[in-house]
Amino acid sequence: MNEFEKILSVENVGRSFKTKAGNFIALENINLDFFEEEFVAIVGPSGCGKSTLLKIINGMLKPSTGKTSFRGKALGGINLECSMVYQNFGLLPWLSVLENIELGLLSRELSNAQAQKKAAHYIDKVGLDGHEEAYPRELSGGMKQRVGFARALAIEPEILLMDEPFSSLDPLTAINLREEILDIWEDPNLRITTVIMITHQIEEAVEMADRVIVMDGSPGHVVKEVKIPLERPRNRKSKEFDHYVGEIFELIT
Ligand code: ADP
Ligand code: MG
Repeated sequence: MNEFEKILSVENVGRSFKTKAGNFIALENINLDFFEEEFVAIVGPSGCGKSTLLKIINGMLKPSTGKTSFRGKALGGINLECSMVYQNFGLLPWLSVLENIELGLLSRELSNAQAQKKAAHYIDKVGLDGHEEAYPRELSGGMKQRVGFARALAIEPEILLMDEPFSSLDPLTAINLREEILDIWEDPNLRITTVIMITHQIEEAVEMADRVIVMDGSPGHVVKEVKIPLERPRNRKSKEFDHYVGEIFELIT
């Protein structure tokens, strides 16, 4: 991976939360580099700090110690080159598909016409053409997540962050959307160069990622990084695939 330029780094990051029981350390001493053109998965048990780490990466949450930098510059606030896809889609129920996507563009200083054009383009890209005026309640889970992807893509970020994006979907829908996300990541017409995806499914991580970061809790830390040098599309039934799943499984249990 390291022939590619470093895009983002997390240095000595720790994060604690004040709780009734006292100071709770969610993350301790996290050191990670992310590069252009890579797809990284983060796996680890529930509560080990994965979502907290992703929020620190996009700047929604400040680290208690350490820092993050983007292309060599320390990050002070929200990183406008990141956009996020959530497990539960994060759509506003009273807004239409088009309006949900336009809302994501509010901070981008576009005219209404420009925002609408961009939103329409990405609605098309994720296969939701004709559903612009629909409301979230009228959509299946898979379609809601397509809106989530379109909203993230419309921002035209360099880094796409995804927090368990396929966990709420039925298995067949998840299979299709995983393939589409890999196509989007590889599409030379899109700006996205780096994907960072949280998952608790080891197979999903091995199917999609170039590199899997394995975390554990109490407090949240990185156990190991495992490189997955397999050609894509990957065969979940192959011996090599099993090998990597087994290696990561052992690290977690
Ligand atoms: P994961 O995504 O790996 O399941 P999280 O990053 O969501 O884990 O949470 C890690 C730990 O930090 C959990 O124990 C969670 O309860 C705690 N935590 C997360 N956010 C807060 C918060 N705002 N206040 C207090 N505790 C929090
Ligand atoms: Mg989480």
